[in-house]
Amino acid sequence: MLKKKKLKKKKKKKINLLNFNLIKMKDFVLKLGEKKFRAVQIMEWIYKKHCINFNKMSNLSNNLKKKLENTSIVKLPKYIKKKKSSDGTIKWNFLFKTEFIETVYIPEKKRATLCISSQAGCILKCGFCATGQLGYTRNLLVSEIISQIWFVINKLNQYKLKKLILPSVTNIVMMGMGEPLLNLKNIIIAIDIILGNYGFNFSKNKVTLSTSGIVPAINKIAGKIDISLAISLHAPNDHIRNMIMPINKIYNINLLLSSVKNYLSKSTANRGIVTIEYVMLLKINDSLHHAKELMHLLKDIPCKINLIPWNPIKNSHYQCSTHKRIINFSNYLKNKNLIVTIRKNRGSDINAACGQLISKKHVY
Ligand code: SAH
Ligand code: SF4
Repeated sequence: MLKKKKLKKKKKKKINLLNFNLIKMKDFVLKLGEKKFRAVQIMEWIYKKHCINFNKMSNLSNNLKKKLENTSIVKLPKYIKKKKSSDGTIKWNFLFKTEFIETVYIPEKKRATLCISSQAGCILKCGFCATGQLGYTRNLLVSEIISQIWFVINKLNQYKLKKLILPSVTNIVMMGMGEPLLNLKNIIIAIDIILGNYGFNFSKNKVTLSTSGIVPAINKIAGKIDISLAISLHAPNDHIRNMIMPINKIYNINLLLSSVKNYLSKSTANRGIVTIEYVMLLKINDSLHHAKELMHLLKDIPCKINLIPWNPIKNSHYQCSTHKRIINFSNYLKNKNLIVTIRKNRGSDINAACGQLISKKHVY
């Protein structure tokens, strides 16, 4: 009796189609006894027409619609709360199973960047990062990564119908909660859906993966994935990096930069340039001596340096560098012909800025 009940329960569990890239969707429709081309049709409904109601997918046969109804679902995240910053940045707080995850929409005049999360928490415990303080809970599923994008694009379409026009999502950055390269299997499939012309169809130049430097994973994706790469370097030498980023004790700067060179040698995204992220921490890594060290370190890496004023987090002894120190650091590097930008601080009034994502119910 119990067995029968269990079997019944198992039968009912539907597959979330947002977990599938084209290859997986093809396998799935073949298993349903359908032709492969149906996979493209289904994905186009989901990603191009934003239709998740199988009955409305008008070019599918009634038989296939019924099969999909019985076996599948397009499950979107449960959204708990939306917060809007005075600068227009919007942070969505989602509930995936029992985990709270944050996604941040950052509009400019004509474009907008969506910052997505790849893990619930992070195991790497960088001292300056709120997500690191949270600890690690689990990897997000492909569907949980993808549904953050689907949800926001769909919301913007709905706003448009209400005559509230916000810039479309033009750029995706994997700079939310978690270390994307520690969720490699799912991130690879998610990237395929983000870039695929049957999927979200973003250009590889408009999709950026930020990593703290998981060297074997960078080497693994080199030549297999081609999107813009951002490296959280944050220090000009191993001594400082060991102090602020424990991962450096496993993969030091030398190993990290070698893997970056390897990646770049096989990539054409972002004109073959890596973004070096460098968080500005007062009197830790922000002197002109550090700038000089950084310049030497990066002498044969085609890169642009993105200086990130540190965003304050709770229970941290760090302070953000003064404006003057950031400008001096930047000017030093610019005078040495390096490309340097200073990241704008967006959404800090709603804790949506870099490193401030600690989604928990009590945040609200
Ligand atoms: N785990 C990945 C991606 C998420 S963090 C990584 O570390 O690259 C995205 C960026 O925000 C990283 O460059 C990270 O170092 C930076 N960051 C983390 N905490 C920050 C803070 N409090 N202020 C400013 N930047 C921060
Ligand atoms: Fe993890 Fe990135 Fe935060 Fe470090 S900076 S703790 S790698 S999310």
